[in-house]
Amino acid sequence: MIIIMKQGATEQNISSVTNYIKEHGLEVHLSHGKEVTIIGVIGNKNLLNADHISFMKSVDRILPVTESYKLANKKFHPEPTSIKVGNTSIGTGNLTIMAGPCAVESKEQLITIAHAVKESGANFLRGGAYKPRTSPYAFQGLEEEGLRYMQEAGKETGLATICEVVSLAAIEAAVKYVDMIQIGARNMQNFILLKEAGRSGMPVLLKRGLSATIDEWLNAAEYIIAEGNENVVLCERGIRTFETATRNTLDISAVPVLKEKTHLPVIVDPSHSTGSYKYVPSMAKAAVACGADGLMIEVHNNPACALSDGPQSLNFEKFAKLTTELKPFCQLVGRDF
Ligand code: PEP
Ligand code: MN
Repeated sequence: MIIIMKQGATEQNISSVTNYIKEHGLEVHLSHGKEVTIIGVIGNKNLLNADHISFMKSVDRILPVTESYKLANKKFHPEPTSIKVGNTSIGTGNLTIMAGPCAVESKEQLITIAHAVKESGANFLRGGAYKPRTSPYAFQGLEEEGLRYMQEAGKETGLATICEVVSLAAIEAAVKYVDMIQIGARNMQNFILLKEAGRSGMPVLLKRGLSATIDEWLNAAEYIIAEGNENVVLCERGIRTFETATRNTLDISAVPVLKEKTHLPVIVDPSHSTGSYKYVPSMAKAAVACGADGLMIEVHNNPACALSDGPQSLNFEKFAKLTTELKPFCQLVGRDF
């Protein structure tokens, strides 16, 4: 449940409520909004006497929170969250563009791509160093060497950097080299990994699982936040449906649904959701138009020779054209880009 304090409630009024809750063995989450403070209660609310709280001075009203995710819930935290990463931020106001190759293949390749995407307006460099491939015989990534190249490319261009992690060892390595970690679709419900990502204190991009409902996805985000790490960004990357014309089906309606349910920023990946470079521009525009805070787009210097996901990667020219075409969409929704 949440307790909405009256306007003008003092620190002392708030403390008497939070102390009462803590004395009963529950935890509190405070959200200081522009006008009112909201106290979120975490734990078994049957241990509390809600009437007792509602009679307390400066308590306006109490509302139930029926969803199992609390810290990710917009009811706990009505203001949208903006997450600072490097010298950029993800959330309200600007459009985040994470662009780069599916996999880091070599230092030269990565530096070339980093300069090209920066030139076209990207603020993040993406690149996989640990690749969870469908086939065990496919290229698995350069691992720590790949992370080092990401760090070098980030330093050289000023772009923030993001890499997928697939294990605790990968998290430990990634914290040394990149600005943000990514939990991929295949690991969205790897609860041990989610907890470790939470404990790392790094900003985390959590991709939607291949067959995950929005509710399961938000509970996965809750695992990270429950470790004391509120820096979570959600990424819609398409889901499994009966349709085979595209690699996955981009659930574009997930964006407004998430905007209603959570305060966390939401970005869209039009590359993995469609599986074809041809559909990336239209889906990227749709994502911006419906309120996404950003995009993750695969870009390669030579898609035909890419070691992974070439068919869905944009070349530099197509990426530059897309970012130019995105500008009027950003203006329409009031985003800086
Ligand atoms: C990726 O972004 O490199 C990736 C593997 O994506 P997903 O987890 O969405 O399949
Ligand atoms: Mn990929």
